[in-house]
Amino acid sequence: MSKIIISSAIRGAHAIVDRVEGKVNAAIEKFGADHEVKLPNTAYYLPVVYGMTGYKVEKIGDMTTVIKKCRELLPEVPAENCWLPYLGPGLDAGMAACFAFDVEEALKYLEDCPYLPMKEDPEETDADIWLGAADDVILRKRGVEFIDGSAPGFAAVVGAAKDVETAVAIAKELQEKSIYVFMASNTNGVSFAKQLEEGGVQLGWNTRLVPFGYDTSAAIHALGFATRAALTFGGIAPGDFAGNLRYNKNRVFAFVLALGEVDDEKYAAAAGAINWGFPTIADTDIPEILPTGVCTYEHVVSNIPQEEIVSKGIEVRGLKITITKIDIPVSYGPAFEGERIKKDAMQVELGGPKSMGFEFAYSKPLDEVEDGKFEVVGPDLGDVEVGGLLPIGIWIELAGRKFQEDFEPILERQCHHLLNGAEGVLHIGQRDIVWMRISKKAYDAGFTLKHFGTILHAKMHNEFGAIVDKVQVTIYTDEAKVKELLGVARKTWHERDNRLADMIDETTETFYSCTLCQSFAPTHVCVVTPERPGLCGAYNWLDCRASYEINPHGPNQPIEKGDTVDERLGKWKGVDEFVVPASGNAFESFAAYSIMEDPMTSCGCFEAIAACLFASNAIMVVDRDYTGDTPCGMPFSTLAGTVGGGLQTPGFVGISKFYIGSKKFISAEGGIKRLAWLPKALKEQLKEIIEKRGEEIGIPNFYDMIATEENGTTEEEVMAFMTEVGHPALEMDPLM
Ligand code: SF4
Repeated sequence: MSKIIISSAIRGAHAIVDRVEGKVNAAIEKFGADHEVKLPNTAYYLPVVYGMTGYKVEKIGDMTTVIKKCRELLPEVPAENCWLPYLGPGLDAGMAACFAFDVEEALKYLEDCPYLPMKEDPEETDADIWLGAADDVILRKRGVEFIDGSAPGFAAVVGAAKDVETAVAIAKELQEKSIYVFMASNTNGVSFAKQLEEGGVQLGWNTRLVPFGYDTSAAIHALGFATRAALTFGGIAPGDFAGNLRYNKNRVFAFVLALGEVDDEKYAAAAGAINWGFPTIADTDIPEILPTGVCTYEHVVSNIPQEEIVSKGIEVRGLKITITKIDIPVSYGPAFEGERIKKDAMQVELGGPKSMGFEFAYSKPLDEVEDGKFEVVGPDLGDVEVGGLLPIGIWIELAGRKFQEDFEPILERQCHHLLNGAEGVLHIGQRDIVWMRISKKAYDAGFTLKHFGTILHAKMHNEFGAIVDKVQVTIYTDEAKVKELLGVARKTWHERDNRLADMIDETTETFYSCTLCQSFAPTHVCVVTPERPGLCGAYNWLDCRASYEINPHGPNQPIEKGDTVDERLGKWKGVDEFVVPASGNAFESFAAYSIMEDPMTSCGCFEAIAACLFASNAIMVVDRDYTGDTPCGMPFSTLAGTVGGGLQTPGFVGISKFYIGSKKFISAEGGIKRLAWLPKALKEQLKEIIEKRGEEIGIPNFYDMIATEENGTTEEEVMAFMTEVGHPALEMDPLM
């Protein structure tokens, strides 16, 4: 707790109350105690006083009661050697200052009012921009925006920016985020509102840039607005100060930006705002109040450069940004998620089997992520010929006060449906098997790679605002850079895949569904167990659980597995009961561990496909990267067309590569012992886990018993190889 801040706030509050008391006495002398006093067109009297105490100030004489209340609240100014001016007295002093400001601003309406529209001759002074208190019509019209979410909050800007350009930039950043800007006070005679006016910026409620007043006391109109919002929209009774303050802390996301020197009076105002849960972010080197308590997070944060002050304010207040319009030159919506882009309609292809394509999301500390920053490193769409090909790496940096590392894969997996929502953008795959196409139409409309950032930023804020505060996106198309970062991503994926090492299905009562891919394959359901990840390879049991925590009504629902129907096949009563409605009544039963009997459905996102080789009594697995012939007679693309789309196809099943290392990998048919063929690159990629499984099944050289395209691409060639190496599948029960 800062002794300096609290002492200054208390000192400032004393000075304010003394000054206002003098003004009240002078007004009584001039107009009489019974003279009416009120803010324009409001039923809320002096709103802060009325909201907090229920007391109605209707005449000047009533103001003396308010001053008396201020005196009761004011703590003594701490002595130099007193080290215990805790937050409580500071908050009381702040509230006393607020009551006094409420009175002081109301007195301005008695004569020579500096505020529009009551001022008689706007040309007389330079005060012709100031609006003073909002009336009840404005309150209802604008206040509802804070309730329905169209305005996420307000920034009370006190003082002035270092120059006009910075003031304009700060205002623009706040406007872009739909945040209201309430302006008051000045720094050495210069006010933020005047700076904006000088910068040619249009002020007023319509532009959400509201100049309340030149004096620091005018900042009370921001708190008056918030207090009235609680009375009007929150159903809080006048005088229920705790309810009003709590409502504001939880529902009105506001913060104070203190620009320039902070004097005692501003400290008092800041202490007042803390009562409402509104923290202060200062650009100067003032002491800080960092522990949480009254505010959601820190109370006073200082020394923030003006260029970063908006983002810091949003972070410290825990304000959630909603981006209502995705600023891209093509339409956006779920209707475009299933859109296909044929070769002749394609401007550029990204990633896919002929190049490299990946997407990767990870979290960083808040101060290392710049929200809304999008960059393209490498050639853009216009730098390649029509129908050309580029590698792509979509690199997403995330930060949030409530973000956990466990959430990274969930956000990463959203790229698929979020990017597919743009008209003229096709996205297939995940992790390192990303394949995209941009249509000629989208390119002609002005779509560039940067717009991937625009989409991901907007949608991640909107759909995951509870955990995401900042999203920064870099699109890499520079081949060397894509290759380098793909290595980094693969290392992390490996670590993510291994987190479940000790969990087994038998001792886990709750599995999770995933229906994220139903936008493409409406009957598809992944049932994700600790030993059977989703077939895309991007969602394991932990990821689904984390996703459910983030969004309990989302695509990942818990499934109580219930009684075991068939242990060998991996069938449970709870799973079957879940699958029927979840697949739209298309399927009655799922076997988690079988390729032959009721195998799980395959959507199209599978990393690989397992297929039976009946003549050899074995199975083969082929992944997307392998485009050649396979022993089952079909290349990957034909197999994918046959197996995908949400079908249950006995003899074939879409799987994640990592699942091959699971003890439950087609265990109903004998497990990995059946595996007789893999593409060479995939075999090498899985070397470690296959060797480990070989040890576990008592065949240490099992890795060498698996054929690749180098040994043959027909079933006869594979069979000859199996016979040569003594493959165990030859001795197993027949597959059919
Ligand atoms: S493949 Fe399965 S686990 Fe992966 S996103 Fe689609 S439905 Fe979810």
